[in-house]
Amino acid sequence: MPTLSGKTALVTGASRGIGRATALALAKAGAQVIVHYSRGAKEAEAVVAEIRKEGGRADAVAADLATPDGPQALAEKTRRIVGDRLDILIANAGVSKAATIENTTIEDFDTLFAVNVRAPFFLVQQLLPILQNGSSIVLVSSLAAHAAVGTLPAYSATKGAVDTLVKHFAAALGTRGIRVNAIAPGVIDTDMSSFARTEDGRSFTLGMQALQRLGQPSDIGPVAAFLASDEARWITGDTLRVDGGSKL
Ligand code: NAD
Repeated sequence: MPTLSGKTALVTGASRGIGRATALALAKAGAQVIVHYSRGAKEAEAVVAEIRKEGGRADAVAADLATPDGPQALAEKTRRIVGDRLDILIANAGVSKAATIENTTIEDFDTLFAVNVRAPFFLVQQLLPILQNGSSIVLVSSLAAHAAVGTLPAYSATKGAVDTLVKHFAAALGTRGIRVNAIAPGVIDTDMSSFARTEDGRSFTLGMQALQRLGQPSDIGPVAAFLASDEARWITGDTLRVDGGSKL
């Protein structure tokens, strides 16, 4: 179990799904966690309460990351809580939309890139002054960036962009000892992948996996905590597949 005691962490989109599980895993490892949300205030407060009940430190902050000034607003709110010291950023918030090439609208395309690519880019930019030397940034990619699964061309392209950002951020920030990695989950049982809860969706998912069960948010959170920890001190610029052996 990695230790993150004394560390401060921001997890975006932490009111539910993978972000929630990641916030809980970081708190369990001892980090003070900022639980970011956009609309799920009640759910975010429930995550904060769960962490505090176990003796941890957490606060909820809201920001809409689809807007151009969302990342800056979130960075400012973060500073108000942690001051000048952030050790861990998990840029998890994301949106997806299944659509064929023909049916993808410009509006959907722009929203996908705004939340999944622009927001993490500018959040890192805005947090650079308080990200400590030796800190860890984890972005969230996807199996869809590496394999043509589902009908997700625009979404998948956003995750391909995330993988590219990881390499450039890692190269640029390595001199400060800041590590930058991504996690690429396979299909995980969250609101985003609700298709996997249908019989057809479940058999499609298990059909491409080596391990024969549906991935859970709790399969991802501890991996993010590992990447954030000193145990992963020699890993940077990489995207780690966490997908039960999908599309091998
Ligand atoms: P989810 O829909 O449960 O969670 C998405 C989170 O992003 C929510 O907390 C939501 O509030 C936040 N978010 C969405 N739009 C936002 C906005 N405009 N401003 C601020 N926050 C916003 O889905 P999830 O599965 O937990 O997704 C988390 C991450 O994992 C995403 O980046 C997603 O692309 C990625 N992912 C998910 C799967 C999967 O199968 N579930 C697979 C691969 C990658």
